[in-house]
Amino acid sequence: MQKKSSFLLLIWMLFLYPVTVHAKEKAVSPYNATKSWYNKLISTAKPDIAKLRFFFTLMPKGGDIHQHFTGSLYAENYLDWINKEGYWISKKDFTVITPKDADKLQDTVSVKNLRSNKAMYSDFFTHWSDKDYANHNHDALAPDVQFFNTFSYFSKIFNGNQKYYAEGIQLLKNRAKNENVQYLETMFVSPGYQKADPQFDSLVRKGEINIDNKAFRDTFDGFISSVSKDTLFYSKVNQYRDLVDLCTKGVDDENFTLRFQSYVSRNTTPSQFFSGLYAAFYEADNNARVVGVNIVSPENDAIALADYKLHMQMFRYLKEKYPQIKTSMHAGELTTGMVLPEELKYHISDAVSVAGANRIGHGVDIVYETNALRTLSSMKAHHIPVEINLTSNDFILGVKDEAHPVRLYTDFGVPIVISSDDPGVSRGSLTEEYVLLASRYRYSYDEIKQFVSNSINYSFMTQNEKEQSLKLLQKKFDEFEHKILSIMDKR
Ligand SMILES: [Zn+2]
Repeated sequence: MQKKSSFLLLIWMLFLYPVTVHAKEKAVSPYNATKSWYNKLISTAKPDIAKLRFFFTLMPKGGDIHQHFTGSLYAENYLDWINKEGYWISKKDFTVITPKDADKLQDTVSVKNLRSNKAMYSDFFTHWSDKDYANHNHDALAPDVQFFNTFSYFSKIFNGNQKYYAEGIQLLKNRAKNENVQYLETMFVSPGYQKADPQFDSLVRKGEINIDNKAFRDTFDGFISSVSKDTLFYSKVNQYRDLVDLCTKGVDDENFTLRFQSYVSRNTTPSQFFSGLYAAFYEADNNARVVGVNIVSPENDAIALADYKLHMQMFRYLKEKYPQIKTSMHAGELTTGMVLPEELKYHISDAVSVAGANRIGHGVDIVYETNALRTLSSMKAHHIPVEINLTSNDFILGVKDEAHPVRLYTDFGVPIVISSDDPGVSRGSLTEEYVLLASRYRYSYDEIKQFVSNSINYSFMTQNEKEQSLKLLQKKFDEFEHKILSIMDKR
């Protein structure tokens, strides 16, 4: 393991080292030209956002490894599919109406008519995305509710229309390649298996929540054993496997790789959560395209908060069973005022030290956590990166600029990766995340390159795939730096 990491480090050192060009051709190396132009862009009192956008559009960005499938598609994409199916949009609440919704067919509008009605079309976007949220005075929902509500609109389109999953993946791939992203690790869908067991629910919520306690562990053992005998479990994971096969077929090419994370929603009963989590681990163990497991849904909801410690024990238990399975965990997507102060004290720490997370998603509440110093040291020592989602944190949590802890992480030597979270809902892109990062926090060009390489190094691809991907990244950076040098020459 150590040897492999050293090899990756060596590749990366070669990559960072400036490529010198023959003295006759150019006095300045492409690397130095790029670095000095970038430095100029970020060193003014007000960074030149337009030029930074130009710079980061061209710059290779490696991978986007914290990205949700449905939240990455734009509302316009969904409307195309609704139109193709001949479905309608409800004028009342902007939900999708299909011929099966016989009682709701009255007050609907076709996609064509929606698109031609300016006021209604604008209103549609305020429901299906965050568009125009900040520039309107109206009775707005709270930002986190607005954000997470959007997801309730999307799912109906996929019911019985699996081809749109595959089309959606193609859209995301093309969009990624267009902004020079070579790897996507998408939170795609969950296997959809859930076993409700009220007796299990009441048992595990009582007493000491810790698998070191024998009675508690026995309850877990008994439940997982019953799930593993359920025929529905296997039919669900088989359906999921077919869907993953359908959507990944022919997608990888020499310049692009796609992998999925499976996940479980945190706002369900303990038995539903645990059975769903088991299905996610099981499938990650049996499908090379599913490279990790995550935990999703609002972290500030009542169940998510009440069962947080229980969820961590469930992760810990399944990590013991499947030590080879990697986990990235949304943790600490909270801030002051959003929840009780006590709830800001332990989420990231528990995800790292109890659940054994390989990566942390968001990690915003680190500044409040009781064991923050220990957690930061542990993340540094064990190479556990934090996935930084600036746009999403700004919108949902209102945490931005100097209030965002990204610098705290990097100052403590914790590796970071830059990711987009839900660019369809936020109507952004990975490029825009880098623009925000550079303009707000003024990281150096070498640091930016390091963050890009982190997105490959800390991905859940195999070691061999990472090595191939890093070589491709190096080639792309060489081309990029040559391009910047030629632009400098022409100016
Ligand atoms: Zn997320």
